[in-house]
Amino acid sequence: MSRVSITKVGTDLDAAFALALERADCVGVIKPGHRVVIKPNWNACGVEGSTKLAVVLAACRWAQAQGAGEISVGEGPVPVGREKIESYLASMGVQAALGRLGVRFVLFDDAEHVLFRDLPDLPPEIGIAQLALECDVLINIPILKVHSCCLTTLCVKNLKGCLRPADKMAFHQLGLLPAVVALNRLLPSQINVIDALEAMEGDHNRGRLVPLGLLIASRDRVAADAVGSALIGLPSGKVPLLKLAAAAGLGEHRVEKLDLVGEALVPQRLELPQDALKRHYPDLDIQDDGACSACRAALMDGLYTTGRNRKIAKIALGAQSKPAADALVLGQCLSRHFATHAHVPGCPPDGTAVARALQGETKA
Ligand code: SF4
Repeated sequence: MSRVSITKVGTDLDAAFALALERADCVGVIKPGHRVVIKPNWNACGVEGSTKLAVVLAACRWAQAQGAGEISVGEGPVPVGREKIESYLASMGVQAALGRLGVRFVLFDDAEHVLFRDLPDLPPEIGIAQLALECDVLINIPILKVHSCCLTTLCVKNLKGCLRPADKMAFHQLGLLPAVVALNRLLPSQINVIDALEAMEGDHNRGRLVPLGLLIASRDRVAADAVGSALIGLPSGKVPLLKLAAAAGLGEHRVEKLDLVGEALVPQRLELPQDALKRHYPDLDIQDDGACSACRAALMDGLYTTGRNRKIAKIALGAQSKPAADALVLGQCLSRHFATHAHVPGCPPDGTAVARALQGETKA
């Protein structure tokens, strides 16, 4: 039976981290001299929706206390451009803080990747960061938050940051959920901790932070995610990614089958992105039939950038959509409607171009 701990964090984060991992039966996973890689969610889209540096530093000190040899923190952020990635990392003070502990930060985009070809549910070729793949212990530390496509983005999804930048977009176009599960079959994470000091609701990059003051830990990443999802307000069986991951033999997604230790699991009913969308844009009519998550992300970007300047109320995306006569059409797979509809080409379309179109700047 998979064990998952929920631990309240008081004034001593290091002590809470150590207790969380002791409760989750993780003591002894790191053997003296082991090469340890810590994988936070440092997506470069926004510091608020990122694993807290303080939690990563606590993980480094805990791994050192366990006798780890070389410890690295590695991440391959969302491909938002080198300048933005560097300023994001600098704003968090990553290099200096890790340097004081003798831990190096590795930008996976610059590192070696091991190539995998022609595997089911994956693009024809993917590259996984060699450091993450070949370390002795991978400590997987996402932040607790909702997600527009996966409902929650936690330990299972966090490993996507170990891919080459181009592979990430290919995952969105191919089918994000099965591809993420296939990636997890190739890349084990022996220790999984969810930073739930604050949870993000409404959106995975620009949502609201809700203080919870908790850490969730497990050796089973699916089980950790099931508890994190339940804490958000999504009970067992409501998160398709976790059902798929469990079916692939990666862990247990049914909370009632878990050995829960520590604090009680109290669901918080955080706002999901779909509900936030309806609340923010009550007049918006979105027809989405079969769209990839990349197209949905471009639409979210466009809506956020456009704000109150939006002039379009009907939008269609996804290959099977049948756009209304006055709908804005998004994405190349609806190109058969380009002659008759205002549209944004691209697969996926660019978020800035979507924003311009939402302001009525694009015609058929
Ligand atoms: S244009 Fe179509 S195929 Fe391309 S990302 Fe969008 S929904 Fe997917």
